[in-house]
Amino acid sequence: MINESMTTLAGSQTLIEIVYLIASALFILSLKWMSSPTTARHGVWAGEIGMVLAIAGTLLHHGIIDYKWIIIALVLGTGIGIPLGMVQMTAVPQRTALSHAFGAFCVTLVGTAEFYLRTPTVPRFMMSVLSIEVILGGLTFTGSLMAAGKLQELLPQRPITYRGQNIVNLSFLAVAVGIAIYLVIHPGARQLFPFMIGIPLIFGVLMIIPIGGADMPTVISLLNSYAGLSAAAMGFVLDSKLLIIAGALDGSSGFILSVIMSKAMNRSFSNVLFGAFGQVQIAAAAGEEAKPVRSATAEEAASILTAANKVVIVPGYGMAVAQAQHKVRELYDALTKRGVDVRFAIHPVAGRMPGHMNVLLAEADIPYDRLMEMDEINGDFAQTDVALIIGANDVTNPAARTDAGSPIYGMPILDVDKARTVMVIKRGMSPGFAGIDNPLYYLDKTLMLFGDAKSFVNNIVREVGGGHG
Ligand code: NAP
Repeated sequence: MINESMTTLAGSQTLIEIVYLIASALFILSLKWMSSPTTARHGVWAGEIGMVLAIAGTLLHHGIIDYKWIIIALVLGTGIGIPLGMVQMTAVPQRTALSHAFGAFCVTLVGTAEFYLRTPTVPRFMMSVLSIEVILGGLTFTGSLMAAGKLQELLPQRPITYRGQNIVNLSFLAVAVGIAIYLVIHPGARQLFPFMIGIPLIFGVLMIIPIGGADMPTVISLLNSYAGLSAAAMGFVLDSKLLIIAGALDGSSGFILSVIMSKAMNRSFSNVLFGAFGQVQIAAAAGEEAKPVRSATAEEAASILTAANKVVIVPGYGMAVAQAQHKVRELYDALTKRGVDVRFAIHPVAGRMPGHMNVLLAEADIPYDRLMEMDEINGDFAQTDVALIIGANDVTNPAARTDAGSPIYGMPILDVDKARTVMVIKRGMSPGFAGIDNPLYYLDKTLMLFGDAKSFVNNIVREVGGGHG
């Protein structure tokens, strides 16, 4: 009888391990497939199936004696998750921050439970990973909540700074690490554990206060990395290979993404984290006198576009806000029908999240082979008749190349000013994300097309003679 149940137990353990192995492979494939628009849908499916398998494998665990609380948690989680998945595309950064906050909260709770179950005899390695788990989990929880609050404009977006702030912040972290080291040596000192959680929770808030709302997307991918690392640490605590793999994937991909974003904005990590970017420049731009610009109507824009051989469309944040991608597709169709060669120039940080423009243009079924990365297209602008900028600003700002005093100096940009004619659709002369003026608008070759991206593109489509009604 005992032998029989031992065999069943071993069998179910093997089944769980196999399920976890498949889930891990799917997570890896998911990331791989997500790196290209042509395979991204498979990537989403692989990730989702992997997660279902991971949950199913965990539910098979023989240690579970009662499913009641698990079912309640699953229903609650689903109830929160479904509406979270339905937010507007432009709200995805703050939605992602909320997901990190939930994940980190869960990791911190699990770490706390494990500590109190195991103390006073916690082996040193176990206590080290457990400390990493709760410190990273705690700071990621409050940091992500703050980041989501700033992006949703529930909290003030501007950076709040004071003298000696970095020293104060780092001291908090140092105290938490000090307590962790003490607990590794004396794991029975349970009275110190609440401080090891409380201090990172405060640090998470303090860490985000000096960072402007503008830098939140980069910070969110960094928090993504912390959440992943804390989950990997939890994997060591719970002896779960699946968690270690998933956490490591999450941690490293979040880190790589933050590096890519910082590079594309020509910013260093320390500048993002301690730089209080965006604030000063807005004030400077506001004080400047208005310079003359040339504007044009949709009719004029349409006749220039139809007379062109090569047109490059540069989409940006304004196209996303206006949800103009389907109208842009109509314009693409109408011009292509007239024999104009139309391509799209995608800057790596156009919009407000990585891949923002790719996702929107793919949603509008614009062929992938028409989407050009910055490095591919930049050499072609000199042979381009018209660069049509739709709601993009910073990613086209030539000051990044020429003005050493500009906050975006050195940021790689799309060389639209090299095209024969530049047309810019935006509502007014407001600056973009970096809060600075754009000298492109005052060039002789530039025509400003003032209006909302969706309705202006619609008007051009009508003039060109296309559209679906
Ligand atoms: P941007 O510099 O923020 O400029 C967007 C422009 O769109 C604004 O100047 C605005 O001008 C216009 N606009 C807004 N609503 C509009 C509407 N309904 N119709 C027409 N125009 C509209 O955008 P970007 O060129 O895409 O650059 C992205 C910026 O975000 C970069 O500075 C980048 O570093 C930063 N960033 C990106 C990411 C990322 O992952 N993608 C992450 C963090 C930071 P008006 O108000 O005058 O219309």
